Amino acid sequence: QSKKSGGCALFFYDPDMQAHLISRIRIETELREAISKGKQFELYYQPQINSLGIVTGAEALIRWNTADRGIVSPLEFIAIAEESGLILPLGDWVLETACQQLATWALEPKSAHLTLAVNISARQMGIPAFVENVLTIVSQANINPEKLKLELTESILLENMEDTITKMTALKARGIKFSIDDFGTGYSSLQYLKRLPLDQLKIDQSFIQDIENDPNDRAIVRTIIAMANSLNLEVIAEGVETEKQKELLTNKGCLNYQGYLFSKPLPLKMFNQYLTKH
Ligand code: C2E
Ligand code: MG
Ligand code: MG
Ligand code: MG
Repeated sequence: QSKKSGGCALFFYDPDMQAHLISRIRIETELREAISKGKQFELYYQPQINSLGIVTGAEALIRWNTADRGIVSPLEFIAIAEESGLILPLGDWVLETACQQLATWALEPKSAHLTLAVNISARQMGIPAFVENVLTIVSQANINPEKLKLELTESILLENMEDTITKMTALKARGIKFSIDDFGTGYSSLQYLKRLPLDQLKIDQSFIQDIENDPNDRAIVRTIIAMANSLNLEVIAEGVETEKQKELLTNKGCLNYQGYLFSKPLPLKMFNQYLTKH
């Protein structure tokens, strides 16, 4: 009887749900096609700055240039790419492009010092070939592996801790760096952070946004910086938009920043121009 009055029927004919499903399927189909053609993706580069105002590196952020919808944000397709497995070829493309860029930067004095951070998704890290994959890409690009920084989220680390530690350790042994992205939004404890071969904690932008007014955010940021110091990790804040936020961070001992205060993520040409100017 309950079937007749139907949760199932309701679910199926909910117009919002259906529209959502159709849009997902459409994005997945278009994504698959775009990946096979390999022309619509582009990396943007957002500068990372230290307390002396020097550009120390960048984070690579993917953009999808569609014919009909303009530039699509990764927030709209990365989750779908993960669920469909398309993140594997796409993630390889990101890594290859990033490593080729590092190789090009290495040729010029003004950019030879730059590091490049690349976002890695859970699905990518989970495949057995991950380590070999990264090492192959790094050696084909012929770059200094110490310039490449992989950004992992706390959820990746917690999901499959032993496997993740094994893979991180193997890559770390070859010089590759690791950062925890969106730090503070997960459940990392000092106890388990100390087991990971990390180089950097990246304070999530949600704690920076209101840091001027919210004493809780200030306390959280202070704690993250203390954790980073006690583990000998570098700390960087993302989403820094105002001079005041930067100043508060500097006073608390956070000496690396990324955010609109300095620059939005930029297409390669504009990033190179930014480098020349700063
Ligand atoms: P994320 O790695 O945490 O990247 C930071 C996001 O914050 C970027 O959004 C960046 O444009 C934005 N942002 C930077 N500075 C500011 C600021 O001052 N204020 C504000 N409000 N936002 C700022 P974006 O580029 O849209 O990327 C969103 C997310 O998509 C990334 O978050 C990352 O999780 C994912 N993503 C981007 N590119 C890739 C990729 O190549 N592979 C994977 N797996 N994920 C990616
Ligand atoms: Mg990131
Ligand atoms: Mg982040
Ligand atoms: Mg984020």
